[in-house]
Amino acid sequence: MKKSTIAIDVGGTKISALLIEDGVVLARRKIDSVVHTNLAALAEHLYELCSGWIESSEHLAIACTGQVRSDSIGFLSAKQQLPLQRQLKQLFNLPLTIINDAAAAAYAQFEMLKREGLFAGKTETLVYITVSTGVGGGIMQNGQLVTSDDGFCAHLGHVTVPHYGKPVRCHCGRDNCVEAIASGTALSTRASEVLARTVSTAEVFALKDSVPAMAELIDDAASALTALIANAKAWTGCQYVVMGGTVGVSDLFSLVQQKLALLPAIYQVTLLKPVQGADADVWGAYWYSQAELKKV
Ligand SMILES: [Zn+2]
Repeated sequence: MKKSTIAIDVGGTKISALLIEDGVVLARRKIDSVVHTNLAALAEHLYELCSGWIESSEHLAIACTGQVRSDSIGFLSAKQQLPLQRQLKQLFNLPLTIINDAAAAAYAQFEMLKREGLFAGKTETLVYITVSTGVGGGIMQNGQLVTSDDGFCAHLGHVTVPHYGKPVRCHCGRDNCVEAIASGTALSTRASEVLARTVSTAEVFALKDSVPAMAELIDDAASALTALIANAKAWTGCQYVVMGGTVGVSDLFSLVQQKLALLPAIYQVTLLKPVQGADADVWGAYWYSQAELKKV
């Protein structure tokens, strides 16, 4: 009898897979990602990764980097569309749920915090923001993951925020997106312009006490994230915002907390660092699939 779920997180550098039955991990596997090296063969790589698991499985739950549309995945970096859903259905012959990896991370945070009792007696709404090379996110509204057919919803990095001085152009084509001001890439790019040499994101933080211009860039990033969180509060009424990612949990975190505290009371939220859990994105994909299966 088929009763396991195969849950996979397709990231830019690693692909992790778990075989899960009734919330218990039966097996786990990990390989280097082919998203940036051999995208066309991604489905075959996933199929090989799961060899020996498929016969005993009843569902495939995927978290994938990129813009997860209803019938394809858009990979901005490769400027390519991949009909991954159709390819996986043909190879695995299993029902499939697929969400963006930041959405899966949001789902995982929501589920772990829910198990800790955070939402007891409260609306089950949570906004998750990840700040690393880019800025991404996921929104849980009233216990449901917010999704859209074009896969663009909750791309929180492309919310524009007030910015004083010269407008900062984002790669999406608009000015003053959060991603263009607060991402690791943005900090490094802007610092490199100011100091007229290549400056890494880590160096921006290392220089913040000795070079005032670096402290200003970090403050700018914190202001952009604070504005994003205040906007998210106005859209969703969330009481909790989780801010993760390598840059999100850095010195930026407490700066954003300080700036949030200065906002009017209606914009106040509790800012949390992510609950740590092994393979959190894989679990997010799994928990999402279980909730979707219950709806059928
Ligand atoms: Zn943008």
